[in-house]
Amino acid sequence: MDNLKNISGWGLYPNTEANVIEIKNNKKYLDLLSNQFIARGNGRSYGDSSLGKNIISTLNFNQIISFDKENGQIILQCGVLLNDLIKKIVPHGWFLPVSPGTKFITIGGAIASDIHGKNHHLVGCISNYVTYFKILLPGRGEIYCDKSKNDELFKNTFGGMGLTGLIVEVGLKLKKIQSTYIEQTTIKTQNLKETFDVMEKNLSEEYSVCWLDTSAQKKNLGRGLVYLGKHSEDKNILIKNRKKIKIYKKFIPNLCGNYLFKILNFFFYKKNFHQIKKEKIYFDDYFYPLDKIDNWNYFYGKKGFLQYQFCIPFEDSYNGIIEILQEIQKTKNVSFTSVLKLMGKQNQNTLSFPFKGYTLALDFPRDQNLFKLLDKLDQIVIKYNGKVYLTKDSRLNKDTFRKMYKNYKIFYEFRKKYNLFNRIQSNQSKRLDI
Ligand SMILES: Cc1cc2nc3c(=O)[nH]c(=O)nc-3n(C[C@H](O)[C@H](O)[C@H](O)COP(=O)(O)OP(=O)(O)OC[C@H]3O[C@@H](n4cnc5c(N)ncnc54)[C@H](O)[C@@H]3O)c2cc1C
Repeated sequence: MDNLKNISGWGLYPNTEANVIEIKNNKKYLDLLSNQFIARGNGRSYGDSSLGKNIISTLNFNQIISFDKENGQIILQCGVLLNDLIKKIVPHGWFLPVSPGTKFITIGGAIASDIHGKNHHLVGCISNYVTYFKILLPGRGEIYCDKSKNDELFKNTFGGMGLTGLIVEVGLKLKKIQSTYIEQTTIKTQNLKETFDVMEKNLSEEYSVCWLDTSAQKKNLGRGLVYLGKHSEDKNILIKNRKKIKIYKKFIPNLCGNYLFKILNFFFYKKNFHQIKKEKIYFDDYFYPLDKIDNWNYFYGKKGFLQYQFCIPFEDSYNGIIEILQEIQKTKNVSFTSVLKLMGKQNQNTLSFPFKGYTLALDFPRDQNLFKLLDKLDQIVIKYNGKVYLTKDSRLNKDTFRKMYKNYKIFYEFRKKYNLFNRIQSNQSKRLDI
C-alpha cells in the first residue's frame, strides 16, 4: 500500500514526495524488490542519495543478531543504528573501529557511503572492518559477499550509495578499548600552513580533526583548532545517559544568517585562550558534539543547507584549500561548521571517497547565490584532481561527477551487467546518470 511522504536528507534540501515502505523481515524485502526502489537508513546523508520514487526504509530491521564479546565480532541487521550498537558493545570494552561525526546512522548507510572517521589516516574506511555482508539483488535474491567471495559486488557496494542492492546483514570487527574517555589535545593555529604542520607532525595520533575558522582573512586564512585524541587507558568504562536538547522544528526561524556565522566563527576561535590545551573528555563529546542537539539541521531554517565536502590530493591541498577559502570570501556565504581532516591512502572500492590528501567539509545555508559559488568550487576541485563526497551531494551534474570520479565507468558497467538501472534508482543516481 502507498504511504506517501514528503521526505528529504539531513540538509532538508532537496525534498521529494515518495512512497515509503517500512520493512521488518527478509521475506517482505524480496517481494518489494520487484518495484524500482532505493534503500534508506536514517536519512543522515545530506542530499538526495536516499531519495527516490519508492523508498525502502530499513529502520525497523534493526536486530543485533549475535555478539561475540570475547573476540569483538558482531552480526547486525542493516537498520541497526550506531547509537544502539555503541550501547551494546561499549560496556564490554569494545568500540566502533571507524566512527563518523554522528552516531545516528545505520550500519547499512555506513557501508553504502564507505564512511571514514577521524582515524582514516591510520585505519582507512569502515570497509576494512566489515567481515562480510549479505545483499539482496533484484532478480538474484540474497548474495553473501566478503573480500574473497563476490569481491566485485563487495568493492562496488562500499561507497556505491545504495545502487548495488539492499544490504540486509553485516558482520563487523570491533575495536578494543580500556576506557570511555578520550585524552584530547587542542592546538590553536594561526594560519593554514601552521594547521597543516600540526596535522602532519601528529600523524601517529589515533584521532585527528580540525575546525577551521572560515571568517579569518589574509595572514590568518586557514587558522583553526586541531583536536587530537586517543582512547584513555584509565580502565574507566562508563555509559552516561545524557539528555538531548530538543528543538521544536516548527518554531525555528532561520537563526543562522551569514553575519551571525561570521561572529560565531570569530568567538569560537577566540574562546580557546590557550595555545595548547589537554583534557580528558567523554567519548560522546569527542566524536559526536553535534548529536547533543536533536534536529540541529533545522537551525538553518526551512530552506535547509548544503554541505560541501571535497578532498584534494596531498601535494596540492594547500593551494587548493587557500583558493577555495578565498573564493568563498569573495561572496557573502559563510560556513560555521568547517571540518578539515588529513586522509590516509585510497582503497580499492570503486566509488569510495577518501584518498591521500586533505578533506574539508563546509556547511552553507541555502540561498540564491550559493549554487553559483559551489559551481566555482567544483572547478577548483577538478583543477586539482579532487572530488566531492557523494553522501553530502545534492547538486553535482553528470559531467562534474565524471571528472571527479574517474573510474565511474567500472561502476556503470557493473550496474549494467547486473541489470540494475531499471530496478534501483535514487534521485542522485538519475542526476549523475550512474
Ligand atoms: C552530523 C553528521 C556528521 C557526519 N560525519 C561523517 C563522517 O565523519 N564521515 C563520513 O564518512 N560520513 C559522515 N556523515 C555522513 C553519514 O555517515 C552518511 O551519509 C551515512 O551514509 C548516513 O547513513 P544513514 O543510515 O542515515 O543512511 P541514508 O542517509 O538513509 O542513506 C545514505 C545512503 O545509504 C544507502 N543505504 C542506506 N541503507 C542501505 C541498505 N541497507 N542497503 C543499501 N544501501 C543503503 C542509501 O540508499 C543512500 O544512498 C555525517 C553525517 C552527519 C549528519
